[in-house]
Amino acid sequence: MKHDYDIVIIGTGAGGGTLAYALREAGARILLIERGDYLPQEDENWRPEAVFQQNRYKTKETWEDAGGGGSFKPGVHYYVGGNTKVYGAALPRFRREDFDALEHEGGTSPAWPISYDDLEPYYARAETIYRVHGRPGDDPTEPPRSAPFPYPIVPHEPVIAELDDAFRRQGLHPFYLPIGIDLREGGRCIRCKTCDGFPCQVDAKSDADVCCVRPALESPDVTLMPRTYARRLRADAAGKRIEAVEVERDGERFEVRADRFVVSCGAVNSAALLLRSAEGGLANSSGMVGRNYMVHNNSALMAVKPVRRNPAVFQKTLSVNDFYLEGPGWPYPLGNLQLIGKVQGAMLKAARPAGPTPLLKAIANRSIDWWVMSEDLPDPDNRITVTSEGRIRVHWKQNNMATHRKLVEAATTMMKRAGYPLVFTEPMGIETNSHQCGTLRFGDDPATSVLDPYCRAHDIANLYVMDSSFLPSSAAMNPVLTIAAQALRVAEHMVAEA
Ligand SMILES: Cc1cc2nc3c(=O)[nH]c(=O)nc-3n(C[C@H](O)[C@H](O)[C@H](O)COP(=O)(O)OP(=O)(O)OC[C@H]3O[C@@H](n4cnc5c(N)ncnc54)[C@H](O)[C@@H]3O)c2cc1C
Repeated sequence: MKHDYDIVIIGTGAGGGTLAYALREAGARILLIERGDYLPQEDENWRPEAVFQQNRYKTKETWEDAGGGGSFKPGVHYYVGGNTKVYGAALPRFRREDFDALEHEGGTSPAWPISYDDLEPYYARAETIYRVHGRPGDDPTEPPRSAPFPYPIVPHEPVIAELDDAFRRQGLHPFYLPIGIDLREGGRCIRCKTCDGFPCQVDAKSDADVCCVRPALESPDVTLMPRTYARRLRADAAGKRIEAVEVERDGERFEVRADRFVVSCGAVNSAALLLRSAEGGLANSSGMVGRNYMVHNNSALMAVKPVRRNPAVFQKTLSVNDFYLEGPGWPYPLGNLQLIGKVQGAMLKAARPAGPTPLLKAIANRSIDWWVMSEDLPDPDNRITVTSEGRIRVHWKQNNMATHRKLVEAATTMMKRAGYPLVFTEPMGIETNSHQCGTLRFGDDPATSVLDPYCRAHDIANLYVMDSSFLPSSAAMNPVLTIAAQALRVAEHMVAEA
């Protein structure tokens, strides 16, 4: 069975979904291949027990920890829209400095082949597509903007506004976290407790499915093939051109042919697809396919005032970047602090199954909950490989951790000074790979990068990769807006060169 298209995009997450949206009116016949189906809208979407204890929406597959940890359940979600179906919709831009070489305590974060100014117009468009709510001017690290945020801030609830005041009294500069939710006039968002980490039952979260794939499918030129797994890409005899992708759907295997192919399976699966496709890996003259895997150094932090309940419902509105570029008392960048969706007792129970339920509930009812995120550095030995049976193996050794510990310390001090005497922190392990990136990095030099600055493979003219794989450094900000902006930039280039 054969199908013919101008462009095949494999994967419908932040990268593939945004690219399809941007190409929908390009006059090209586009096929989206997606291993998952639409995520069902059902009551379980908002049940913490179903989402966090039973892992209802996470993939059931396991990956191998090459560091001797056996197999583990990765935090990935295979649906139309990819991981954005459950993401927290924090949509900040990377900072201008993130595009330059930046010295960290643990080494150098490399310069990008493009500058912030190259990406800026696409950031502005991505903010409109993903309906970002925000306000410029509060965060000293904020890069220049060519357009205002398309939507006003999501206001703080009283307890968060108090925190904002307390931080300002400490000389800090808290800012409204840019958030992608549908709070437009008549919008569907009800600002519930079950946004970050949950699928949205009312389609009010700006995920790649809602904001990009569905609008793209309104074009007669765009077709979606869900529940279809891309097994391998087949190149011509010289290995210079992709002729087809071999896929599997409902037990049937067949090839799809196209002029151009875009791999958008997410950083781990995109690397795995290229590694499965040829001896030594497809498009791998640099030897970099699968290498430089990054995920950020992350910790969860819960600050508790025992005498006071936290009544916040939509907690995720505030962020602090005062330590993004340095200090306190530390000459290197530390990273970003941002509130997360309100942690609930059942979510804590999933993380601490042996913990007494009433105690976990009492803590969750009183806590203010943070994500502490610092940059990890690209290391060629941190890599994805595929075993002879086709299983994914993750080689991962954390780096730049002194920086992360400093950031946790700074966050702890900040919360204690704000009147929260109990602070609990938990570092994230190998299974928390929500910010996976870097495995097919872009660059000017084919000897050290897999993709060119427009995300086309240096080695194969009709092969592109458009997802978080391209990032040459992870910065210390959430990645989706940057992936989406680059997808818009790549789409424009693909149209121009067609
Ligand atoms: C719980 C959680 C919270 C997060 N919160 C935020 C946040 O607040 N802000 C932010 O910026 N980021 C957040 N992220 C990260 C964000 O979701 C990812 O960075 C982003 O989705 C990556 O986009 P991508 O295109 O690289 O991959 P994905 O979005 O994962 O898309 C990859 C797609 O490819 C499909 N696929 C994979 N392999 C194949 C194959 N072989 N054949 C066919 N299809 C395939 C997958 O099913 C998927 O649809 C969060 C992630 C998680 C899990």
